[in-house]
Parts: sequence; C-alpha cells; structure tokens
Amino acid sequence: MSVFICVFCGAEVDVDLERNLIQCAKCGSRVVMKPKPPALKKRVKAI
Ligand SMILES: [Zn+2]
Repeated sequence: MSVFICVFCGAEVDVDLERNLIQCAKCGSRVVMKPKPPALKKRVKAI
C-alpha cells in the first residue's frame, strides 16, 4: 500500500494497487498523484 495525494481535496489516500482501490474516502475522487518529495532548497552562503 502506498500513499498518494488527492488532487481535489489534498487528502492522503492509501492506495491499494493490487486491488485497484484508488478512491479518495473524503471526496470520492479517483484522481490522485504521487506526493512530491521534499523540496530541495537552495542554500547560499551568507556574505
Ligand atoms: Zn479527495
């Protein structure tokens, strides 16, 4: 089971790919996306 993000309400959806369960329990949407990895922040040196 893996966690996706509902594109409509932003809820975390536990997706069961083996059983093809990909529906958001909050809003009923079947459109989910993979959560974005933490943004890589650019570091700059202090001057
Ligand atoms: Zn949703």
